[in-house]
Amino acid sequence: AKESGRANHQFFTPDLNKRASERLWLESNLRHALADNEMELHFQPQFSVDGRRLVGAEALVRWRRPDGQLVPPVQFIPVAEDTGLIVQLGDWVLGEACRRAAELHAQGHRLLIAINLSAVQMRRPGLADRVAFWLAAYNLPPECLELEVTESVLMDDSDMVTTAFARLREMGVALAIDDFGTGYSSLSYLKRFRVDKLKIDRSFVLGLTDGSDGGAITEAIIGMARSLNMQTIAEGVETEEQFGFLARLGCDQIQGYLLARPMPFRELVTFIAEHKDM
Ligand code: C2E
Ligand code: CA
Ligand code: CA
Ligand code: CA
Repeated sequence: AKESGRANHQFFTPDLNKRASERLWLESNLRHALADNEMELHFQPQFSVDGRRLVGAEALVRWRRPDGQLVPPVQFIPVAEDTGLIVQLGDWVLGEACRRAAELHAQGHRLLIAINLSAVQMRRPGLADRVAFWLAAYNLPPECLELEVTESVLMDDSDMVTTAFARLREMGVALAIDDFGTGYSSLSYLKRFRVDKLKIDRSFVLGLTDGSDGGAITEAIIGMARSLNMQTIAEGVETEEQFGFLARLGCDQIQGYLLARPMPFRELVTFIAEHKDM
């Protein structure tokens, strides 16, 4: 036992140290990154299942290091949430996404731009005010904006969250539940908050064809969304086979590498021009 204890110790310590120092490095650099404009938004197109029309795009944040390296959000969003920096970062994302959405709108493109909101952001006072501020700043119609929150936010029945939801709805901004089915939400939460769209998590899309549930969960989610008058979008769609399954189950929209990857804004503009049938 002693022997293996020592072996474990040797095995884990360097790794833990490495992670702790990476975290410290991230924390101090994230602050500067925001101040130095090192963040950028990429956009992943979203399509209708019917006719594969381009209908929207999800804004996904990336951190462009001075050496050109692109850091993915999974590496810094959790640290930003722990340190509270997510509030500042999230506000930048909101402003930048609205600016880009307004640019597209001015060019005559009717795309819905979806933004990810952290639960930390939703629980802070003033979120709805910031959304209203950015819409006004870029003269963006609220119908052009969709906010994605995770299920955990629905279970938070604090006044802050309830009020934020109500005010955003009133403004006319669309609300979507991200990674739907992976958390612990229930029908009653969905009824209370009345969201517009459910985003079916990639794990269920994989389940369509890997023999695990054969689409039973996805079918249930789509049926439930329909009975509550909500739209559905499936994320992480990589194959025609998955697309076919989702189309048969009556899913409304699709997002995934099969049709388009996340891309910088300039590429999105080109992409839109090439899909002018919208
Ligand atoms: P998410 O909101 O679930 O975003 C979808 C992720 O799946 C994105 O990763 C996207 O690039 C990736 N993806 C899209 N299509 C496919 C596909 O066909 N196959 C596979 N394997 N992956 C696909 P990304 O951009 O690395 O973002 C990861 C997560 O980081 C997001 O997951 C979201 O939770 C978070 N995130 C990204 N941007 C923001 C932001 O501005 N604010 C906040 N709070 N979170 C963000
Ligand atoms: Ca999302
Ligand atoms: Ca998602
Ligand atoms: Ca996901």
